[in-house]
Amino acid sequence: MSFDKVLIANRGEIALRVVEACRELSLESVAVFSETERGAPHVRLASESYCIGPAPVEQSYLNIPAMISVAEISGAQAVHPGYGFLSENSLFVEACESHKLNFIGPPRKVMELAGDKLKAKKEVAAIGIPTIPGTLDPITVEEAEGEVKKIGYPLLIKPVLGGGGRGIRLVRNSQEFQASLQTACEEARVSFGAAEIYLEKYIENPRHVEVQIIADKHGNIVHLGDRDCSVQRRHQKLIEEAPAPLIPTETRNAIHQSAVDIATALGYENAGTIEFLVDSEGSYYFIEVNARIQVEHPVTEEICNKNLIADQIRVAMGEALSYTQQEIEFHGHAIECRINTEDATRGFLPSTGKLQINELPGGHGVRIDSYMYNGMDISPYYDSLLAKLIVWGKDREEARIKMYGALERFNVEGVMTTRDLYQEIISHPMFAAGNLGTAFLEDVGLV
Ligand code: ADP
Ligand code: ADP
Ligand code: MG
Repeated sequence: MSFDKVLIANRGEIALRVVEACRELSLESVAVFSETERGAPHVRLASESYCIGPAPVEQSYLNIPAMISVAEISGAQAVHPGYGFLSENSLFVEACESHKLNFIGPPRKVMELAGDKLKAKKEVAAIGIPTIPGTLDPITVEEAEGEVKKIGYPLLIKPVLGGGGRGIRLVRNSQEFQASLQTACEEARVSFGAAEIYLEKYIENPRHVEVQIIADKHGNIVHLGDRDCSVQRRHQKLIEEAPAPLIPTETRNAIHQSAVDIATALGYENAGTIEFLVDSEGSYYFIEVNARIQVEHPVTEEICNKNLIADQIRVAMGEALSYTQQEIEFHGHAIECRINTEDATRGFLPSTGKLQINELPGGHGVRIDSYMYNGMDISPYYDSLLAKLIVWGKDREEARIKMYGALERFNVEGVMTTRDLYQEIISHPMFAAGNLGTAFLEDVGLV
């Protein structure tokens, strides 16, 4: 089960982060890149690298045969999938397994369950953990009316295989429902390859609270606390923090325990996240399992002093977790801003151009996870995440103030970024008070 060479089936900041983790563990790393990303830092820093195709993701970073070929040619024995791309693709896990490659993530059967939101929801409901009222099977157009009557408005139409906040539609009345249903199926088919959708009661302005878990191959499962990711636009996270502010200890403990129970019931291995919504009454509900490392994992690393990528690799090698639940200590507060190359004043339209870096923040408790370099071309082919700016403070207020200053020094030109919006959010009295809900940005008119 041990290995000494890891293929990184991803790009951007997470690919670089995995290269660095491999170095720390004295493992060799194999990078892949598309024709336009030859100059990327993960390519330069990896032990070796291979071009896997043209810029469009279908021909490069989503190309399973190309990934497997690179593993074979380079002699890599393990694959780290990062997040996005192939990270939750059970066909990819299967391809790795059949080529005797150690997939650094959960086993295929867990991936299949977690990837299908309804299957996961059923499993979770079966162990008595609260789920949001809604249909437990994909609905057909004919059944829809009857189901809607049971759930009531407002409700959400959600794609069964959804992810990244895409394809979720809010419906407030029956006229809207009729107009949305067909489009939602069509959108789900185009985005996720299956038209299946389901309905869920819409919880008004909930908080998004999630729990990081990690499990080894010996039955040890721990949680590494929670994160709040309520600052969203279009169901996509913009700012995350750990721990979630203003949660009563009793609720927090119950959410942590539910996450561990869910991971146990699923037979989970490696790192993962269990997502919940918390309503205005303080009740919490499971929403989904993310069977991979997440974008926002650094805020957890900062408060519990762990290297989650290195831990993922270690447990994939068959090592037992080196810490028990009791040994995990939490310190202070961390906040992350996802700095995107987008024009926040024009509907978050992706912005492209040649990046000029004028100044970057640094110092104690300031971390930038990025792959950017001066003069790089920001192309339209990939996700608009440019950098994750992460700060740590002894408490939330210290972290918040530090973030404001760090954003001020995050000074780049040549492309539009969401930096200014983050300064507005960070200094907003509701954010300062920790009074967050997923409708916050819309309610205060910031998006
Ligand atoms: P996280 O909770 O880790 O922030 P996100 O849902 O924001 O996860 O997704 C992380 C990355 O993966 C983003 O770049 C997002 O666009 C991408 N992503 C997530 N799910 C999918 C999917 N089903 N298909 C394609 N890309 C996805
Ligand atoms: P994805 O797989 O696209 O990440 P999720 O089910 O995790 O989808 O939901 C993404 C976001 O959509 C949540 O963080 C939340 O803001 C919103 N959301 C999802 N389900 C509900 C719901 N039933 N009520 C209110 N908001 C919801
Ligand atoms: Mg989610």
